[in-house]
Amino acid sequence: MNTTATKNPCKLCAPLGASLVFKGIRGAIPVLHGSQGCATYIRGYFISHFREPVDIASSNFVETTSIFGGEKNLCEALENINRQYNPEVIGVATTCLSETIGDNVPLFLNNFLKKKGSEPFPDIIFASTPSYSGSHIDGFHAAVKAVVEYYSHFRETADLLSARGREGNSVAVLPNFVSPEDIRHLKEIILDFGVNPVFVPDYSQTLDGVSWNKYEKIPEGGTSKEELLSLRKVSSVIELGNSLNEKDSAGKFLESEVGTKRHGLGLPIGIDLTDDFFNSLKIISGRKIPDKYIAQRGRLVDAYCDAHKYLFGKKAVVFGDEDMVVSIARFLCETGIIPVLCASGAQGSELKKALQQLSMEYKNKIVIRTKADFVDIEEEAVALKPDFLIGNSKGYTLSRKMGVPLIRVGFPVHDRFGASRISHLCYKGTQELFDRIVNTIIAKKQSESAAGYTYM
Ligand code: SF4
Repeated sequence: MNTTATKNPCKLCAPLGASLVFKGIRGAIPVLHGSQGCATYIRGYFISHFREPVDIASSNFVETTSIFGGEKNLCEALENINRQYNPEVIGVATTCLSETIGDNVPLFLNNFLKKKGSEPFPDIIFASTPSYSGSHIDGFHAAVKAVVEYYSHFRETADLLSARGREGNSVAVLPNFVSPEDIRHLKEIILDFGVNPVFVPDYSQTLDGVSWNKYEKIPEGGTSKEELLSLRKVSSVIELGNSLNEKDSAGKFLESEVGTKRHGLGLPIGIDLTDDFFNSLKIISGRKIPDKYIAQRGRLVDAYCDAHKYLFGKKAVVFGDEDMVVSIARFLCETGIIPVLCASGAQGSELKKALQQLSMEYKNKIVIRTKADFVDIEEEAVALKPDFLIGNSKGYTLSRKMGVPLIRVGFPVHDRFGASRISHLCYKGTQELFDRIVNTIIAKKQSESAAGYTYM
């Protein structure tokens, strides 16, 4: 739609992505430098999606802070957090307000730590995340890079590196904004190759944990400081998602500054992209693909054949995070479904570039929308008459209005249970997603038919 305003954007707020990263570091607590509302909104989104208690602190801007700056508030927040949570790490992310008034947070943190002198204090990691110039995915990548840079620059790590050399059997994994279940599955695969993964971040336990007998202020789990310090020693890094530019990529930072071999891969959804992921692991580990994954691949190919009669020529609208949209679109094309509209609120041109790689058969049938909001998506979708929508739960209003089903993937999923355990990745995750898609198509046909078929 040709307007200057965004209505119901197809993206979320940048410090939300940064907060998720900090939730995946052991003993860490995120603090947002800005007003309380930002932290409350992000907590609300996390709690509703992950169904776990989530603490996010705030430097609590009021009118005077907005005029005179937030240094004093930030210092007080750091002291309070340290006293109340006793964290190992404090992750500071900025918000629209503190960025707009030009608060120099690195300088504030420097002043704060100078005043502390030799007094022990948690590690403070800072990510600049103005939401008006990026999405939750930009905030996520900014925080991953901040964590990687922070621990790569530790003096003791450099000494360790020169003393012991590189560790061939460890790999850094930058998994992108995926579900806790996806992180667990990636970990299982990499360990099956005999390689030890260091995830940045790993919220597979902190945001999908076991029940507690008493409230834990900071949940168990996350990547430990020792693991983060080992990042300089690993010989390879797997960075998932191709939408990252040079400047924002932690993997490229490790490659250029530390000499780590980078494997930049698309999110492994569908057979082609998962094959790329497994081939990289073969190179990194020097081992064959374990039989269990060859069997998973075989079952997925068989399922593609069995379900072809239900799916061929069906049309889908795909929306959400850029990397997720690209990988899902490529996967749908493998199955005979045409992703007639691929839309993301992201600003980048990567979506167009990545989808240009599809075969001519599909390329000319796909409408691509970047910087999209749900008004744009609705306008296009109504004209394209899709059989289903696939994306996060923000698409429910459109799905209801159009009377077409929504297959929920990614983040956020606020209107279904078990979002933490949605599988998207590799042969197994693709299989689960594929079965959901096929059953959605069958269920729609069944409910629309007057005959009341019981065999479909
Ligand atoms: S004001 Fe900016 S940082 Fe705060 S919640 Fe809104 S978009 Fe996010």
